[in-house]
Amino acid sequence: MLNRKMKLAMAVAGMGVFSGIALLSQTNLPPLPDYRVRNVDPEKYPEVIRSVQGKIQVIAGAGSQVSVLAGDDGILIVDDQYRQMSDRLLAAVKTISTKPIRFVINTHMHPDHMGGNQAIAKLGAAILAQDNVLTRLAAATPPTPAEALPIIGFKEGATLHFNGEEITVVASPKPSHTDGDAFIFFKNSDVLAMGDVYTTDYPAINPAMGGTSQNFIDNWNYALDHFIGPNTKIVPGHGQISTRADLIALRQAVITIRDRFRKMVMAGMTLEQVKAARPTKEFDKRFSLETVGHNEIVSTDAWYGIMYNEARNNP
Ligand SMILES: [Zn+2]
Repeated sequence: MLNRKMKLAMAVAGMGVFSGIALLSQTNLPPLPDYRVRNVDPEKYPEVIRSVQGKIQVIAGAGSQVSVLAGDDGILIVDDQYRQMSDRLLAAVKTISTKPIRFVINTHMHPDHMGGNQAIAKLGAAILAQDNVLTRLAAATPPTPAEALPIIGFKEGATLHFNGEEITVVASPKPSHTDGDAFIFFKNSDVLAMGDVYTTDYPAINPAMGGTSQNFIDNWNYALDHFIGPNTKIVPGHGQISTRADLIALRQAVITIRDRFRKMVMAGMTLEQVKAARPTKEFDKRFSLETVGHNEIVSTDAWYGIMYNEARNNP
């Protein structure tokens, strides 16, 4: 997928982080990797490190994008990829800082966001997450190892003061991707990590946990109203570092698509007819699940089924 020039650019960018010298401006860098895979072979997914803004850096490999805040107090990270990536993730964190990882915040309970918990907790880090993350992980089959469970929970939110940064952790108001999603806002750096409530493609709606496209829109509006200003950088759960304008563009696409699904369902169209009419057509180039990243987990085809059922339930 990556040509030689891109690989070289990534290697150079990595060195820049090492030495503290910005060798390339952000705009010259290739896109962050975005691998949503079923079989995780760590050899295939080298970690890439980029500066986001202020004190926040991001590590991208297989699984979630990982926000990193490092400083004299130690290291805080948001999400920690798949379990199989733990060694590589820890090595990547070490190139940013050799201080201990003190806190991990899980944006939700999926294995590509909390798989590193066990390895990192063994090194002494405390894991924070919304209460539903613990409830669901503790009840999971196969069982979640005890060390991988969050030890600090919250219902609505919490504030951390760490490395001179005020960090607001807040539960996403409505179930959308899961019922345990959280946003993490680094106020001083002006960076918001949104987990999978915001990915740079069509939203991964989980109807089984109460998720709807409208709940995504409501959660986005909440984040826009409370955290996202003109200069805020957004770290998505998967995909590229984004701005307020990027999130607003996705919101507009989802509103337009949702309204089209409703009209088509009202007109009595079957799912197959809706697929043929392609209500997403002018948005697919920017947001389709297949064009944005390497995605073995969700497909646009499955997403059509979710949007269709939702339109049938909310005419
Ligand atoms: Zn997820």
